[in-house]
Amino acid sequence: MEHNHESGQYMPVSRIPIAVVTGASSGIGAATARRLASEGFHVVLGARRLDRIESLATEIGGSAYALDVTDQLSVDDFCARVPICRVLVNNAGGAYGMDPVASADVDDWAAMYDVNVLGVVRMTKALLPGLIASGAGDVVLVGSTAGLGVYEGGGGYTAAKHGTHVVAETLRLELVGQPVRVMVIAPGMVATEEFSVKRFDGDQARADAVYAGVREPLVAADIADCIAWMLTRPHHVNVDLLVVRPLAQAAQQKVHRES
Ligand code: NDP
Repeated sequence: MEHNHESGQYMPVSRIPIAVVTGASSGIGAATARRLASEGFHVVLGARRLDRIESLATEIGGSAYALDVTDQLSVDDFCARVPICRVLVNNAGGAYGMDPVASADVDDWAAMYDVNVLGVVRMTKALLPGLIASGAGDVVLVGSTAGLGVYEGGGGYTAAKHGTHVVAETLRLELVGQPVRVMVIAPGMVATEEFSVKRFDGDQARADAVYAGVREPLVAADIADCIAWMLTRPHHVNVDLLVVRPLAQAAQQKVHRES
């Protein structure tokens, strides 16, 4: 490891593979950063809440830089600090609101498209040359079962996550013959602390109701475990799409709840 005087952090210059995780300040991103560090990666964490990712980076021996995937300058600054990396986990994303189409907040829809689709495009464009140069690169996109189906009130989020999946499918076609896998994980219901609270604009009771009565919903570590599995298959094995739901969820709206 070598000290980077500009950032004050230690950047790897050895053969330790580097994995970039966006949205690593909470939930699935934080769990994935932790898990990939334990798999032997030097993890570069990105998110807007720098204090959170700095403390996680210290804990797992990684690096942390501020990142807003909806801001091209921020993406440029972040990616300029990343040495050639082997893995990019495009995890930053989220759902805002649950209004029907008839009363949709168009700004929320635009924000969801920006973070879940354009954010992925900005990050992937910036890091792709390095991923190819690594000789064995991986792009993981955290999609969703909302990228495979629809539900009432979910139009803005499902449209965006369908977009995430479409970016992955297109990229896989375009990269054929290059040493880069493109893999999508599509989780169903995952009980993370912030996802539903943000969706319902801070309404904790409404957020809690999403997971009410669900015995053993998926947790962030379950998704991190699946991502680690996808990444640790031999490099000729491309897991195109991994759909993961809790046992209690048979389909998007078919959830078994115990009272
Ligand atoms: P969280 O809300 O806990 O995590 C979202 C992460 O994204 C945070 O670290 C947040 O960090 C980051 N983020 C949000 N906006 C930006 C931005 N503009 N630039 C950089 N980072 C950003 O939710 P989850 O962990 O549950 O969700 C992670 C991913 O998994 C999302 O893509 C989500 O759509 C997807 N998903 C979640 C499911 C669930 O049920 N929880 C199910 C299926 C998919 P910060 O605010 O610090 O920037």
